[in-house]
Amino acid sequence: MIIDTHCHLYLEEFDNDRDIVMQRAKDLGVQQFYLPAIDSSVTNAMFKMEHEYADNCFLMMGLHPCSVQENFEKELSLAYMWLQKRKFIAIGEIGLDFYWDTTFKEQQIIAFEQQMEWALEFDLPIVIHTREAMQQTIDCVKPFAQKGVRGVFHCFSGSKEQANQITDMQFLLGIGGVVTYKNAGLAETLKQIDMKHIVVETDAPYLTPVPHRGKRNESAYLTFIINKIAEVKEISAAEVAAITTNNATTLFQQERYK
Ligand SMILES: [Zn+2]
Repeated sequence: MIIDTHCHLYLEEFDNDRDIVMQRAKDLGVQQFYLPAIDSSVTNAMFKMEHEYADNCFLMMGLHPCSVQENFEKELSLAYMWLQKRKFIAIGEIGLDFYWDTTFKEQQIIAFEQQMEWALEFDLPIVIHTREAMQQTIDCVKPFAQKGVRGVFHCFSGSKEQANQITDMQFLLGIGGVVTYKNAGLAETLKQIDMKHIVVETDAPYLTPVPHRGKRNESAYLTFIINKIAEVKEISAAEVAAITTNNATTLFQQERYK
């Protein structure tokens, strides 16, 4: 059993063939799907997907840093309302993104810290998105990690040194399609990272692994990511699947979800 720990299968990119996409993944052993939130515009689509695939889909709740804008307090209050109302697998995806736009840099930090407070309040792991802001993100997380917050740095593509800082905080690294990109250097970094720190993810429909890079990503392609990790770590794909699934179930404790 393999878990895609980060995929946005509820997005409209899958509206025409969601059943087929799910079946293709299941046929390859990818049987569970953790769906990160973005903002309130996707909440209904997430709930609908959970309703339709109740045995396989697990929802997160949170405000993505790229959705932190003028109305971020309203967005946060909606996310908080849902967290009070029902169960989620994690708070995510949350974090800092200074790549696209830094207009709301301060608000991004406020929103991120607020949501890490909720992780403590609701005893949930967090799923972190960080872009062009790795060190700031680590610095924000550190005091919360010391209070016991745990989670994943999703789509990790940093250096060995950054990986060490993250794993020192007892956080995991989400490895996705970037590991298959030749120029990214992640495969080299991964050689020096213990498998106990790793979970796998697609981030579908984004970040498609080789050989489908440039097309829409989907959870079945997790096998390309797992095969690449197996090659880099010189272990079997079955071992990669077993270890990363175990890491994910230990962190997310999905038995608490329903
Ligand atoms: Zn994502």
